[in-house]
Amino acid sequence: MEPQDHLNITISEDLLEKIRSLPVQRIVEHCGIRMTVSPFDFYAECRQCGSRIKVRSFSGAVEIEDVFDAVFEWMNRPIAQEIARRRQMALDEDSASTIDQIPTG
Ligand SMILES: [Zn+2]
Repeated sequence: MEPQDHLNITISEDLLEKIRSLPVQRIVEHCGIRMTVSPFDFYAECRQCGSRIKVRSFSGAVEIEDVFDAVFEWMNRPIAQEIARRRQMALDEDSASTIDQIPTG
């Protein structure tokens, strides 16, 4: 018996890297001005002309942001946030110790 049912999906290292490197802000330009919005917002409002600018796709194509949305939905479950917080702390310690191991010279 497998500990978890292994789904028939392929998750590439490339996808994981894209998730890790997703900018925390999206830069939108309109009327010659730049504004920053959450990468998860579907619309931005131009401060100059007030236009609503679509910044996220509604199409069937799955984007990185949709992966985050799925995780956020999971995190809405009871206990999930606590589990996620603990994992984040563990990952933080892991990356800190990895940095310590990098020779400096
Ligand atoms: Zn505008």
